[in-house]
Amino acid sequence: MRLRPIFVFMCLILVGIQQPFSTADTAFGVKSDGPWLRPIRNGHVIVSFSMTDQYGPGHRGIDLAAMPGQAVHAVAAGTVVWAGNVAGRPTISVEHRGVKSTYEPVRASVRIGDSVAQGEILGTVQAGHDSCAQTCLHLGRIESGTYLDPEALFLNDGHRRGAFRLISPLGAPPAPPIAGNLGEGVPVAGLVSSGYGMRIHPISKVRKFHNGIDIQAPCGRRVVSVGSGSVRIAQMRGGYGQYVEIGHPNGTKTAYAHLSSINVSVGESVQRGDRIGSVGNTGASTGCHLHFIVKKGQRTIDPRRYLH
Ligand SMILES: [Zn+2]
Ligand SMILES: [Zn+2]
Repeated sequence: MRLRPIFVFMCLILVGIQQPFSTADTAFGVKSDGPWLRPIRNGHVIVSFSMTDQYGPGHRGIDLAAMPGQAVHAVAAGTVVWAGNVAGRPTISVEHRGVKSTYEPVRASVRIGDSVAQGEILGTVQAGHDSCAQTCLHLGRIESGTYLDPEALFLNDGHRRGAFRLISPLGAPPAPPIAGNLGEGVPVAGLVSSGYGMRIHPISKVRKFHNGIDIQAPCGRRVVSVGSGSVRIAQMRGGYGQYVEIGHPNGTKTAYAHLSSINVSVGESVQRGDRIGSVGNTGASTGCHLHFIVKKGQRTIDPRRYLH
């Protein structure tokens, strides 16, 4: 575990040579230094991020359950760039290498210009946020003026609700699959760096629907099938790069894109947990990651519904 932050940092440097923090989705889709810490200890998400349009109605952040007066911690190291009222609400904003985190309503114990470490206390939660009935902390994430889902940056830390459960495919064998569900397996061990839904495309910079989730992992790491089934496609496929699609008995299909190598061929049967390839950077990709898609019929669905 100690090696991972160093690895992530080195990769950010490598990516920085090509694209110095200019995209919303670098090698790992994360411009700040690695994953974010939950700002509220044991605070689960009670209201999710929901935005269909940058200027339309929606919830530009997430609400975490909190007790009045509970400590609010910095999600990552950075500099306090705002501590005061915004539209009548006590708000704190911290800048982390091009990404901003915002916290409200919070009584600040820091001042503008203060440097904070990851986990450092910024202040205490106050009552009065609109979107939750009880007291909660509203957390926002802003990159290049765009609101993004902060939850996508949380490292899995055992919270079932609203968290991705990412277990290592190299570990103990997972429980048997549940009917109608692809089970508890994940295609590759890693952090979900970009969720399903609308986002600014990292290469074209155009607002576009992201039809799967991105899981950050080093190139070469094993990618496994999340369920039993048979291989439908195993080849280069345009922007998806080296691509594998598997049909499952319940009619669901899963697809694995940007692979560096493919270990299966069309028609082959696979079991859950079987290696189908390796993480790569092929096709329209800005760094090593797996783009993972779940389809029902011709439509894609949010893979998070299957990965918990
Ligand atoms: Zn909110
Ligand atoms: Zn993707």
